[in-house]
Amino acid sequence: MSDVRNVIIIGSGPAGYTAALYTARASLKPLVFEGAVTAGGALMNTTEVENFPGFRDGIMGPDLMDNMRAQAERFGAELVPDDVVAVDLSGEIKTVTDTAGTVHRAKAVIVTTGSQHRKLGLPNEDALSGRGVSWCATCDGFFFKDQDIAVIGGGDTAMEEATFLSRFAKSVTIVHRRDTLRASKAMQERAFTDPKISFIWDSEVAEVQGDQKLAGLKLRNVKTGETSDLPVTGLFIAIGHDPRTELFKGQLELDDEGYLKVASPSTRTNLTGVFGAGDVVDHTYRQAITAAGTGCSAALDAERYLAALA
Ligand code: FAD
Repeated sequence: MSDVRNVIIIGSGPAGYTAALYTARASLKPLVFEGAVTAGGALMNTTEVENFPGFRDGIMGPDLMDNMRAQAERFGAELVPDDVVAVDLSGEIKTVTDTAGTVHRAKAVIVTTGSQHRKLGLPNEDALSGRGVSWCATCDGFFFKDQDIAVIGGGDTAMEEATFLSRFAKSVTIVHRRDTLRASKAMQERAFTDPKISFIWDSEVAEVQGDQKLAGLKLRNVKTGETSDLPVTGLFIAIGHDPRTELFKGQLELDDEGYLKVASPSTRTNLTGVFGAGDVVDHTYRQAITAAGTGCSAALDAERYLAALA
């Protein structure tokens, strides 16, 4: 059995590394599980990040994450590129199990496991990611200037993405499986009155076409089964996100969509000594800077919790 640590951080995006930096500088010697496959988080899969403050000329996503990682390590954070596969967070001493079956113990745990954007599940989707297929209009919209773009989805995010993209695009076609939108009335109105935006109802994507670059979509009408071609060079998939909270079910309180519930504006979960930050909590903003901000809050909350125990 390992020694009891002050704090274990599960997850390694901007939230996890910021929590690591703050707890390390508070001499708490955090142990950080970064994840086995995706250490560094969502920004490891992107190119230029132009909206993280402090980088006037922008910075590549992986470089930003390498810098955050190195900064946390410089102050003594112990970083492990492994997954946590089990937790017991109920007692005063929490346990966290890694893939080798080793059980690590800590007085406080910070959860920063992020969220995963939903995919259509089509064969070409991943291969053409970054070659016409995207999940983030704020990040990639600029690359689609004067092009024909499809947005998939019918919720607020899809409307927001479409409205944002219409600033750059020649045309934006929203493809939705149903004949009504889930989006709020205000968001719908904005999309309906935008002259560049049109709708294809009752339809889903049957095929993502293209070899090196996206060449178009084959759509299928879900009511008639008829197929049609949509010649677009951009595809934005806006069908939702899944927070990575499977591990915590039955222990930490989650909302209807599976996001971790915290006692906002603090980062406290329903269990004492367990804190949550970043996209695993956040339905709304989903940005690197907001994840880093709440990562800082979680570290300070954990610090105060530990100080009160002493
Ligand atoms: P994440 O970055 O998702 O990191 C969580 C990490 O936790 C996971 O990746 C994994 O490594 C780890 N993890 C998960 N489960 C476990 C486990 N069981 N054990 C151990 N580790 C685990 N935002 C911007 O502000 N600007 C941009 O330009 C921008 N571009 C983006 C481009 C793309 C393609 C995407 C997908 C997102 C982009 N975002 C951008 C959004 C931004 O990346 C996220 O808001 C941010 O990364 C969320 O940080 P996080 O720390 O909460 O989670």
